[in-house]
Amino acid sequence: MDSPLIFIENVTKIYRNGQVEQAALRDVTLCLSKGDFVSVMGPSGCGKSTLLNLVGGLDKPTRGRILFDGRNMASMSDDELTMLRRDRIGLVFQFFNLLPHLTALENTALPLYMLGVSTREANRRAREILDYVGLSRWESHVPSRLSGGQQQRVAIARGLVREPEVLLADEPTGNLDSHNTSEVMSLFERLSSDIRLTIILVTHQADVAAGADKIIHMNDGSIPESSTPCPSNDA
Ligand code: ADP
Repeated sequence: MDSPLIFIENVTKIYRNGQVEQAALRDVTLCLSKGDFVSVMGPSGCGKSTLLNLVGGLDKPTRGRILFDGRNMASMSDDELTMLRRDRIGLVFQFFNLLPHLTALENTALPLYMLGVSTREANRRAREILDYVGLSRWESHVPSRLSGGQQQRVAIARGLVREPEVLLADEPTGNLDSHNTSEVMSLFERLSSDIRLTIILVTHQADVAAGADKIIHMNDGSIPESSTPCPSNDA
């Protein structure tokens, strides 16, 4: 077994609103290796988004720790966390959040433009990814001229353009019909097997969750310990 890329160890997350405490995660332990494709399922409010936010470095555990490639995220500086989020983690959401006046190519290349990569190089890399997601022919279309499924694939291409190792997808098929849902799911399957992308997919749809290699059922902030066994080391 590969050493884990993401090791969530005994993580508890408590939100405090005044005097009221809400445990969003309770002693969650989870290991993910390179190329793992897991779905996280569970009722609304069970902690799925909190889990993604913590892995994405947008929030910190109250107790426990999260190791990304062996490094404790809590001990990273703000700059290191920003770089981790920018370079190693891709995000995909239910709403595609594409810029309406930019083409599919420009939307895909946008993260590279913002990093100062030359337009020519950024567009070259964006074209490669659009080709991979099957949208080469649509590169000059603006979002309003694309179907929902195509727009989501552009959003995924944009999430991949910096070649992250991890993709965090929060209800990515929540706005799609069944045909487009299966296209997005087969894209995720290819990404995990072809380039060994590690994918955490949050969904409340059982048929979507079933497309991942493993389903993690969350309930009231907890997951069963057997969900993704961790190597017994002191990582
Ligand atoms: P899910 O994504 O499964 O719907 P969440 O992770 O959004 O669940 O929320 C888990 C629990 O934590 C819920 O009870 C929610 O109300 C609470 N929660 C989430 N974010 C906050 C916050 N910023 N402040 C207070 N409570 C929160």
